[in-house]
Amino acid sequence: MAEVQAADYIWKNGELVKWDEATTHVLSHSLHYGSAVFEGLRCYEAKDGSSVFRLRDHMERLHRSASVFMMDIPYSVDELCEATLETVRANELKACYIRPIAYRGYGFMGVDPTDAPVDVCIACWPWPAYLGPEALENGIDVCISSWRQRSANALPPAVKAAGSYANSALAHMEAAQNGYAEAVLLNEYGHVCEGSGENIFIVRDGILSTPPLSDGLLEGITRDSIMQLAVDLDIDVIEESLVRSDLYLADEVFFTGSAAEVTPIGSIDHRRIGKPGEVTKALQKAYFEAATGNNDDYTDWLAYL
Ligand code: PMP
Repeated sequence: MAEVQAADYIWKNGELVKWDEATTHVLSHSLHYGSAVFEGLRCYEAKDGSSVFRLRDHMERLHRSASVFMMDIPYSVDELCEATLETVRANELKACYIRPIAYRGYGFMGVDPTDAPVDVCIACWPWPAYLGPEALENGIDVCISSWRQRSANALPPAVKAAGSYANSALAHMEAAQNGYAEAVLLNEYGHVCEGSGENIFIVRDGILSTPPLSDGLLEGITRDSIMQLAVDLDIDVIEESLVRSDLYLADEVFFTGSAAEVTPIGSIDHRRIGKPGEVTKALQKAYFEAATGNNDDYTDWLAYL
């Protein structure tokens, strides 16, 4: 999607190593069996300096994801938060994307990951607009994927596991090859779930709605931020199951994600939604204000370097 812009250092198993030296063996368990859990978050240039957005929430989710795979991460949430700040500082980046990953490393092969060591890395690099430079302002065209979301009884969508993204990749590649910027996945019952790397919201008659977690989606931290900010803006917000025609008939539709931020959707399967609407724009503005320290009610979402 975007070429990685190398930074200087990566935190690996407790220490900062040079970017090019943060390598791993080709027989690492996770490379073969997808046995890794990870996070994606951003550092913004905020009012009082650079600050990582909802750092603790992301590290708590990393630990929760690991627990489903019975993986013991050898660093506490606090230690991972401190390591993240140290990594961004060492790379002297004012704003960046951050990728912590805990993976089953080298030494044991076979499906069962239990004996393979757990390695932990935190990398960061500049990654401005996940879905392209104009996406945030003008919106994107998306499609409903012919690929379905995994059942909660397969690889649980609530877990941010590397293996899950093979499903996302199938959906995204299909969309991209058909000329769309992103795909929306339905679950096995035909309910709308999420994008390949984003949660989804619609607005109809001024009411904001998004699929419930029980429809099988990642519990997005941006999704949570948007739901809280909506309440502040006196926008009614509900969680309800949606079907594909709810997207076609919505007044506004947008994606949320730490990488995608708040990305308006201009059309779905060629049904035009239109330019970014008032509610989308208000929430996008509120999100960036909160992330950059310009809303005093949300300063506890910020971890300054
Ligand atoms: N769903 C999927 C499948 C994702 O990969 C992401 C990105 N992490 C999201 C939703 C949004 O989650 P968040 O807002 O926590 O980044």
